[in-house]
Amino acid sequence: MRTLALRAFSLMSVLRMATYADLANRPVLTQPVYEAGRPIEVVAREFGLDPSAVIKLASNENPLGPSPLGLAAAKKGLDDCHLYPDGGCTFLREKLAKKWALEPGNFVIGNGSNEVMILLAQAFLRPGDEVVFGSQAFIVYKLATMLFGATPVEVPMPGFRHDLKAMRAAVTAKTRIVFLASPNNPTGGTDDPADILAFAASLPEDVIFCLDEAYAEYLEASADLRPLMKSGRKVVLSRTFSKAYGLAGLRVGYLMGATEVCGLLNRVRQPFNVNLPALAAAEAALDDDAFVRRTREVNAAGIAQLSAGLKQLGFAFIDGKANFLAAQIPKAEEAFTTLQKAGVIVRPLRGYGMTGWLRLTVGTEAQNARLLAELAKL
Ligand SMILES: *Cc1c(COP(=O)(O)O)cnc(C)c1O
Repeated sequence: MRTLALRAFSLMSVLRMATYADLANRPVLTQPVYEAGRPIEVVAREFGLDPSAVIKLASNENPLGPSPLGLAAAKKGLDDCHLYPDGGCTFLREKLAKKWALEPGNFVIGNGSNEVMILLAQAFLRPGDEVVFGSQAFIVYKLATMLFGATPVEVPMPGFRHDLKAMRAAVTAKTRIVFLASPNNPTGGTDDPADILAFAASLPEDVIFCLDEAYAEYLEASADLRPLMKSGRKVVLSRTFSKAYGLAGLRVGYLMGATEVCGLLNRVRQPFNVNLPALAAAEAALDDDAFVRRTREVNAAGIAQLSAGLKQLGFAFIDGKANFLAAQIPKAEEAFTTLQKAGVIVRPLRGYGMTGWLRLTVGTEAQNARLLAELAKL
């Protein structure tokens, strides 16, 4: 019997070999694709341009470059790259604890803040669970949700702004996590800190609220979740060194939350998820107040410059305080290619259900002027 069954099996295998897809975890097959900003070198090669003449305003990177303190520490860190990094991220967590008047145990450091969101999903989501976020929210929330077989509940965003009432109404007994970014990417809209706190407080106590503050450094004020956190509510905050600190290429971000949730996420993460130069850079950059201040100033001027320019061209855009603007550009998808040919990389938003929109990262004054000049030619 057994031999017969085996023979039948091997015959079937000859007729049709299993594909990797047959063997993969089901959610992997339906996982959406993250469309990153196109790298300068790739665009330069594709369109036959000199890379030094191409500007990238596609990934909300810091046009001033890396934090000088961070860069110096990363370079120094490279001398020790034969050693494993401190898997506990001891000094960075101690510094963060001081900055936030909390304990080191209230922080989990990730390979970018994207990683801490994936860790959250990995630790808490299973098939059948629901995750609530806006229909034009940061794509990583959907990726994290779907990767673990949970169900995304995408709440419509009228005028591309979060509808917190509708989001609250979308929460059911199956909801495990609610994600909210303020400012939101790719729309750029910001929610009032008081509204965010009221929303967080209104959630059932068994729902985890993750507030993504990747662009908080660009705002005057952000929501202080610490009182809710200390009262035992399940609220966590994520921040990054990728934007205002200018360290996107090194990949460091963090989650702040109760020691219990941080302990669980630490079990899930890789022991050495943050590399040694990156860790050194983040520690040093945290003290680089002068750089963050200059970043904010240059960005505020850039937002004013781009807003005025877009108005003059008659292109609609969403008011934003982060380091980018979402703008409605005639024939946006063609314009995306035309701009690349002219050496300006921006981000199309069709993947976010925003056909006709481009996301423009704020650059230096000269870069913004060049972008506006190219937009004027369209
Ligand atoms: C850029 C961005 C991040 C940061 O991602 P990292 O992994 O830290 O580079 C997080 N959330 C939003 C909404 C962003 O736009």
